[in-house]
Amino acid sequence: MPPIVNLKKCTGCQGREESYCENICPGDLMAVNPETGKAYCRSAKECWDCMSCVKACPNGALETKIPYQIGYYKATLRPIMGKNTVTWKSKDIYGNESTYKTKNRNA
Ligand code: SF4
Ligand code: SF4
Repeated sequence: MPPIVNLKKCTGCQGREESYCENICPGDLMAVNPETGKAYCRSAKECWDCMSCVKACPNGALETKIPYQIGYYKATLRPIMGKNTVTWKSKDIYGNESTYKTKNRNA
């Protein structure tokens, strides 16, 4: 399932030749629509939920829908990148939110 783009938060990475999400996607799936200036996924079925784009967005504009098998359709998981840690914000199928931190690989 492709990342969900929050259209209010996505700036299209204005001023950059290539957006952060485009640059990092290993499948070259992310793009910025020149008309709307917002990011989108070119091929939903090719996205394998690696979350690279979600982690790379400096504006927290991307969110992963957790696949049905582990979270049902309303559950989401969003990483916020710190210098040495990742703060994960998760929401379960009832809307309960929780936050937890993990160390970066580089820490
Ligand atoms: S990295 Fe974030 S702000 Fe930049 S284009 Fe992608 S979703 Fe939008
Ligand atoms: S989750 Fe991974 S494969 Fe899917 S669009 Fe983002 S970077 Fe590409």
